[in-house]
Amino acid sequence: MSCCGSSWVGVERAHCCLRTGGCGGVFDDIELWDGHRTEGACVDPRSLQLVQTKNGIWLRALDRAGG
Ligand SMILES: [Zn+2]
Ligand SMILES: [Zn+2]
Repeated sequence: MSCCGSSWVGVERAHCCLRTGGCGGVFDDIELWDGHRTEGACVDPRSLQLVQTKNGIWLRALDRAGG
């Protein structure tokens, strides 16, 4: 999958499309996508304690920090 400069694997990923006014980010699932759009606008995923993989996918930091 690829769109507006981002590319990723997996149909379950949630892409926040630049063409719809989004930030262009790709999130691990729709829940994370929802989380960064709390007020109808994108917030910085870092402020939600998300971490970005080398592929540019945003994940929950907890998944990596081990709790
Ligand atoms: Zn896009
Ligand atoms: Zn966004």
